[in-house]
Amino acid sequence: MSEQLCILRWESSKLHNEGEQIMVKIGMDYGHGGSDPGAVYNGRRESDDVLRLGLLMAGKLRAAGLAVEESRTGDTAVSLGQRSRMSNERSDTHFLSIHRNAFRPETATGAEVFVHSSAGEEAVKLAEGIQAALVKVGYGDRGVKRANFFVLRETRAPAVLLEIGFIDNTQDNNLFDSKFEGIADEVVDAVLTYLGHTKTDAAVPSLHDDLQVLVQHGLLQSPTYWEQNARSGGSVRGEYAAALIRRIADHLRRGE
Ligand SMILES: [Zn+2]
Repeated sequence: MSEQLCILRWESSKLHNEGEQIMVKIGMDYGHGGSDPGAVYNGRRESDDVLRLGLLMAGKLRAAGLAVEESRTGDTAVSLGQRSRMSNERSDTHFLSIHRNAFRPETATGAEVFVHSSAGEEAVKLAEGIQAALVKVGYGDRGVKRANFFVLRETRAPAVLLEIGFIDNTQDNNLFDSKFEGIADEVVDAVLTYLGHTKTDAAVPSLHDDLQVLVQHGLLQSPTYWEQNARSGGSVRGEYAAALIRRIADHLRRGE
């Protein structure tokens, strides 16, 4: 597909399998977790908000064909050192740390995106795109800022840290809840735009939808396996692929 995002470059010397690609790999980092709830306001925990929203973003990024790694997928404690180390070991090409802000109850409002004090052009450009996306969904514009935050400093990939409104501000929380899906969509769009993805007018069916068509035609019995593995960065057993190809060919020969 012409709009596949994953082909950054082709390094044949490093390949084990012909056709393997060097890909964009987004490190998604959901702040806090486990014994560290982050900011808390009226029982609402930053660690929960950012996990929920981050998981949604990660799903949307994967659906767009990108490889995504996550520093946590549940309510577990992960140290700052681990977060950056994992990203560096995975060779993430980009790193997004998701947070919510806090100041004094019902005082501050708006969204901001941080890059490291010495961040280069790439991180700044990504941050500006994401900040514009957060403003578009309705957050006050606190701008792109520089800070010496640990994960921004220690992560090798261009890294940004999102503060998605204030958790101690009712208005920001209402926006977070009412525009939950929209926030994820806009941020993901900003990332795709930054990566040079141009959206087509026609909606591209998801892998899930495509697999359902195959199931309906009796060509596939285990869509879950394919949904988990037949994606950018995944791998599918050769004999399964061969069996599927045979069934599709038979299907076409019969002119069904
Ligand atoms: Zn935080």
